[in-house]
Amino acid sequence: MSSVVEEFGGWLTDFLPGDYYENYRTYRWDLALRRDYQRAAYEAGWLQPTWPREHGGRLLGLRDAMEVRLEAALRSAPKLPNIAGPNVAAPGIRWFGTAEQVDRLLVPLLRGDEWWALGMSEPEAGSDFAGLRTRAERDGDVFRVTGHKIWTTQAHQSYWCTLYVRTDPEAPKHRGISCLILDLHSPGVRIEPIRMASISDETFCEVFLDDVEVPATNLLGPLHGGWNVAMSSLHHERQMIWIMNWVEIQRGLEAARGARDPDVYAELGSLLADAEALRATGYRALNNELAGRPSPEADISKLLGSVTLQRVWELAAAARGPGSAEDPDLLFERQDALAATIYGGTSEIQRNIIAERLLGLPKG
Ligand SMILES: Cc1cc2nc3c(=O)[nH]c(=O)nc-3n(C[C@H](O)[C@H](O)[C@H](O)COP(=O)(O)OP(=O)(O)OC[C@H]3O[C@@H](n4cnc5c(N)ncnc54)[C@H](O)[C@@H]3O)c2cc1C
Repeated sequence: MSSVVEEFGGWLTDFLPGDYYENYRTYRWDLALRRDYQRAAYEAGWLQPTWPREHGGRLLGLRDAMEVRLEAALRSAPKLPNIAGPNVAAPGIRWFGTAEQVDRLLVPLLRGDEWWALGMSEPEAGSDFAGLRTRAERDGDVFRVTGHKIWTTQAHQSYWCTLYVRTDPEAPKHRGISCLILDLHSPGVRIEPIRMASISDETFCEVFLDDVEVPATNLLGPLHGGWNVAMSSLHHERQMIWIMNWVEIQRGLEAARGARDPDVYAELGSLLADAEALRATGYRALNNELAGRPSPEADISKLLGSVTLQRVWELAAAARGPGSAEDPDLLFERQDALAATIYGGTSEIQRNIIAERLLGLPKG
């Protein structure tokens, strides 16, 4: 174990309550603890390990940062209460924000004082993000925005939203999009939470926008350059998502291990192999990145990680037998895993990308 992972491990042990693992089933939903964890991780430089100290990091290299994230996941460190903030909005603000935007927005975001929502999907534009219809027209010092977003996680609890809007309807689809920083308390914004089937506290919302004024100074990145802002912001999370999937897969494998049924046993073997393939793919991506080579593995590990995660929790349920439906934790894991093949790019879209861009197959 590297010294930096040891240092992180010691810090985590000091942070966690003494009965954390014993009472993990309760602590995993403890919002106050999760908020404290984010603030403490920011202050200690573990939140964004590759970033400088003032932005929640300690300038670690990519390899150390990955090992720290892996250790955090392996030890079931508290889940960040508003993942879209540090993992998606923050990289976008850092790379594309003006000095004023960085000064005003980044620290409250990283400390978890101001939550962020991600306003990409619309009822007619999910996988086809570039087809979004929410319109923004420049009117003096403001943009006037009208449209409708959906699946906007935690919008009802958030202060800000990175809102993707169409600013040039004449341009080819992905060249006419801009990213605006929307204050969700602005007049004309109506937020409606969507009732969830799962017990997750990451509630989906619909966001209705009726002639909302957004100051022109809240444009993030270049005008009509929102496609790049979106892709760069998501890149950060996509590179790390396999770690979360891999650790959850290990927990699912553990839950399925007692199986006696030969069919369950055979599937367990196949899943063990897929979990190893996922880990190897994650490390290959890291090596490519360190060597400055293109790294197409994120598309493979997104697909492999999410599909394996679903299979593993279904197997854990099969291994448990009829009693599995009575276990709320197992039910939650199965429901949670269902979402993994949808967010951040559905499996069908990932397969299209792999087929066309990686394997060079003709477009279907
Ligand atoms: C847990 C979770 C959190 C989310 N959080 C957010 C958020 O905070 N902000 C946000 O903006 N969005 C969020 N989303 C929405 C997510 O980005 C979309 O659900 C996703 O992009 C898919 O879009 P859609 O639901 O409109 O499905 P659609 O795009 O309508 O797809 C429906 C089905 O058709 C398939 N399909 C579509 N196009 C093709 C094609 N070309 N080839 C083959 N098959 C195709 C899809 O794979 C899918 O099975 C979240 C989703 C989940 C599950």
